[in-house]
Amino acid sequence: MSELECVAYGVGADEGICLLLKLGRYRVLLDCGLADLSTLLAETTVPPADLVLCSHAHADHARGLLALHQAFPQLPIYASEVTTQLLPLNWSNVNHDADRNVRVIEPSPLCHALPWRTPIEFCDGLSVELYPAGHLPGAAAFLLTYAPLPEDDHPARAYTIFYTGDFFLSNARLVEGLPLEELRGIAPDVLIVEGSYGTARHPHRRQQENQLAERIDRAIVNQQSILLPTPALGLGQELLMLLRSHHYFTGRDLDIWVDSTVAAGCDAYMEILPHLPTAVQNFARHQSLFWDERVRPRVRALTPDQQFHLETHPAIVLADEAADLSQYYGTNPDAWLILQPQQPHLAGEERGERGEEKDEREAGEAGVAKRRNDSYPSPLTPLTETYLLAQHGDGPGTAQLIHNLRPQHVVFIHGSPTYLADLAGLEELHNRYHLHTPSANSLVELPIGETFLHTAAPEASYEGELTELNTIVSITLPDAITADPRWRQLADTGLVEARWQGDELVLRGLPQRELLRPSDRLLDWVDGNSPLRSCCGNCRHYRGQRCWNQLSPLFEFKVAPEGFCPVFEPLQPPED
Ligand SMILES: [Zn+2]
Ligand SMILES: [Zn+2]
Repeated sequence: MSELECVAYGVGADEGICLLLKLGRYRVLLDCGLADLSTLLAETTVPPADLVLCSHAHADHARGLLALHQAFPQLPIYASEVTTQLLPLNWSNVNHDADRNVRVIEPSPLCHALPWRTPIEFCDGLSVELYPAGHLPGAAAFLLTYAPLPEDDHPARAYTIFYTGDFFLSNARLVEGLPLEELRGIAPDVLIVEGSYGTARHPHRRQQENQLAERIDRAIVNQQSILLPTPALGLGQELLMLLRSHHYFTGRDLDIWVDSTVAAGCDAYMEILPHLPTAVQNFARHQSLFWDERVRPRVRALTPDQQFHLETHPAIVLADEAADLSQYYGTNPDAWLILQPQQPHLAGEERGERGEEKDEREAGEAGVAKRRNDSYPSPLTPLTETYLLAQHGDGPGTAQLIHNLRPQHVVFIHGSPTYLADLAGLEELHNRYHLHTPSANSLVELPIGETFLHTAAPEASYEGELTELNTIVSITLPDAITADPRWRQLADTGLVEARWQGDELVLRGLPQRELLRPSDRLLDWVDGNSPLRSCCGNCRHYRGQRCWNQLSPLFEFKVAPEGFCPVFEPLQPPED
C-alpha cells in the first residue's frame, strides 16, 4: 500500500476545492469548498478525515465546512486566525444591528485558529505549519510532516507535503505576497499547487491597476456609471483601496456605492485591521479604512432604500457578483458599463476567455476586453468588459514557486483542465518533477522514492525596461536579481561594461582589479606610493570621489582613489 495518496473530491473552482490526503494511518481533508457533500459523505457514518485544514475564507475552499461540521461536530477544523474571523461571511451570519446601525458578523465556533510559522503536532507523527500565502488576508499554505511510527512497519522516513491553497507572490494593497524566501529549498515530497492562470504571463500589478483606473476614468468622462461585480471578500476591498488612493480619483467629486454583501466583507476587514499590512494600518489611523462621506471620492454602503441615488450619473457601484445586476442599471443600460474581473479558474469562463483574446488585442493599450455579456441576452444590458486585477500567481510565478520549493511530485489543481494541462506541458517542469493533473473524484498515488535526484532549476531570466533619455540609456531590472549570490560580484564597483555580441548586448560587471589595472599603453613608471602615481586620487579631474573628465569612461562615476583610466591627467604636470 502506498504511504501517500490523495483523493481529489474537488479540483476546480466550479465544484470547489476538496482533497483528502492519506498519510499512512492518517487522513487530512484539505479545504471543503464543495457545494454538495454527497460524494464526500457517501456511505459513511464516521468522519471522512481525522482533521480538516481550511486554506482561506473564499467560498470555493470553505462553503462546505458548515454542513461538514453539522454532520460531524467532533471533526476538528483548523485555519489561520484571520480565516476563522472571515469564514462566517460564507454562511451569511451577518445581522443588522438596528440600534447601532452597524452590520454584525456572528462568530462561528466551528473552526480553530492556528498560529503562523509554528509546527503543531496534531497526532503522533503528524504535524502542520502555516505560512501566509498572499491572495487574501489570512490565506495559508500548509506544510504537513508525517513521520511513520516504528511499529508501523515501514522505513522510518518522514514525508512532507506542501499545499498552497490559493497563493499570490506579489503584494496586493491589503495583503502581502507569499514569502518565497522563507520556503526556498524545503523540498517537499509532494507539492499541491493551484494553477488558476495556467501559463499566462501578467503585466506588473501597478500596470494592471493603471489600466483599470484609466478605463473607469474614461467611462466617468463619458458620464457613464460603472458596475463592478465582485466576491464579498478580496477583490472588492482591493478595488475600493485602489479607487480611494489612485490619483485619478482622489479628491474627485464622485460617489462609490457598496452593496450590503461587499460592505459586510469591508466591515470584516476592519475587524482584522491589526493583521493587515502596516501601510494599511497607518492609512486607517487617519480615516476609516473604507467608509467616508467627507473625503472625495465618497464611499458609502448602499441600502435598498437608497437605490434612487443611482439615477445620478456617473457613479461607481461595487456589487455582490451573485446579485441580479439589473437592479442597478434598471431601464437605462446605456448609462452603465459593467466591468467583470477575468476569472480564468472557472472552467465555464474558459471559452469566453479564449474567445476574447482577439478582442483583447484590439482593445490595445487599455487591455480591457469588450463583449456584450452573454449571460444577459436581453438588449437591455449594459456594455460588459473584463479587466485584470490578478489575485493569483501567473504562469511564471507558479513555475518560480515550484523551482524554489523543489518538490518530488507536483499536483496541479484549481484551474480549467486546459490551463492545468498547459502548465504540466511545460518542459522546464515535466523534465524535473512528477506532475499530476487529477480530475474530480479521482485518486492520485504518490509513490515516494527514497532518493530523488533533482535536476537543477533552470537559470532564471529577468525582464527589464529600457529608457532612452537625452544623453544616456538606463536599463531597469527587477530587484529580485540581487538575490543571486553572483550579483555582489557583478555590482562590486557599480560599473559595468557593455559590449555587442552579434545582435545582443552583453553586460559585464567591472571588478575592482580591472579598474586598478594600469593600461597597457602606459608604463607604470611611477612608484606606487609616489604622489605622482597615475591614479584617480592624483588626477586633476577627481573631485568628491567622482570623475569629472568628460573624456573618461569613468565620467560622473564614483571611483576609488586607486582607480585608473587612459585619460589620466596629473594634478600638476610632473616637474622634469
Ligand atoms: Zn481564493
Ligand atoms: Zn480558490
